Amino acid sequence: MKEFNAQEQSSATVIDGKAFAQKLRHEVGSQVASFVGAHGRPPGLAVVLVGEDAASQVYVRTKMRQAEEAGIASFAHRLPAVTTEAELLELIVALNADERVDGILVQLPLPDHIDEGGVIEAIAADKDVDGFHPRNVGRLATGESALVPCTPLGCLLLLQDRLGDLTGLKAVIVGRSNIVGKPMAQLLLKAHCTVTMAHSRSRNLADECRQADILVVAVGRPGMIGSDHVKPGATVIDVGINREELGEGQSRLVGDVDFAAVAKVAGAITPVPGGVGPMTVACLLRNTLYAAQRRESARQKASELDVSTKGVAGEPG
Ligand code: NDP
Repeated sequence: MKEFNAQEQSSATVIDGKAFAQKLRHEVGSQVASFVGAHGRPPGLAVVLVGEDAASQVYVRTKMRQAEEAGIASFAHRLPAVTTEAELLELIVALNADERVDGILVQLPLPDHIDEGGVIEAIAADKDVDGFHPRNVGRLATGESALVPCTPLGCLLLLQDRLGDLTGLKAVIVGRSNIVGKPMAQLLLKAHCTVTMAHSRSRNLADECRQADILVVAVGRPGMIGSDHVKPGATVIDVGINREELGEGQSRLVGDVDFAAVAKVAGAITPVPGGVGPMTVACLLRNTLYAAQRRESARQKASELDVSTKGVAGEPG
């Protein structure tokens, strides 16, 4: 596969998501070591893959490897494509009850005969490290602490690293999916941006995008955002991952943004590959650690409550 040279013809700062993700994974790794010291066990991540989809297998392998490198115990469940929904739900119930497991990730997409929504809802919300469970979606929307979807969380961390405080900035998000666009909007609202969401029915997309200090694009259409969509100096986050065939068995990954054109106008831009992609897995590890910390602190509170209730019950008279 021919790699795209991200520095080519760029006047914008290229945001190095690969390096940032590596730093984040190291930070998670040292916090995992403290967690093990405090609780005598590593955080645990269960990854469930149904079927033989080649891309999903690569994603799962990467997640498991990076989890292990950070000191997180990983439990792989590879199920055949003919697995029934009932069998998958049975596994989820078992993982919900498994004390070693803090995070459960079901690799999407699932085969057509399985209802994805039902499976996501079956995952215990406090182990939902993908942040797709309706309870986490609702908590994010109401501004409460929640497990947040990994890709938009990764975008937010890159933006805060680049821009610092995002308060008052105008953000435009192109794409309104449940896994990227909508949670991205919630996170940027929480960070006090003025947020516009654009989608396939939006009018005058280029005009909308040109208002943005922060432009996040998550559509799945190669190179659809050009220089006429971008305000000079804007920060552009390209979530899209598209495989472009070059002929003779060659291919390369490209984003939704025409990198060469936009890099001449933008202040900063993420490349594809090497931008948002590596942040997604790093944030999965961060979420797993966070889920483990929350479960241990809930357990601690429950045991303190138990002791104090016993104390009250045991008092004479
Ligand atoms: P979806 O297909 O679920 O959503 C695409 C969104 O783009 C929809 O909201 C759709 O609008 C909108 N859209 C489609 N065409 C246009 C158009 N012409 N103008 C404006 N908006 C348009 O995609 P995902 O959110 O799942 O993924 C988006 C991209 O991000 C993909 O390339 C995917 O591979 C990539 N991705 C990358 C990840 C990473 O780790 N880096 C993780 C997840 C996704 P409407 O709602 O009106 O149909």
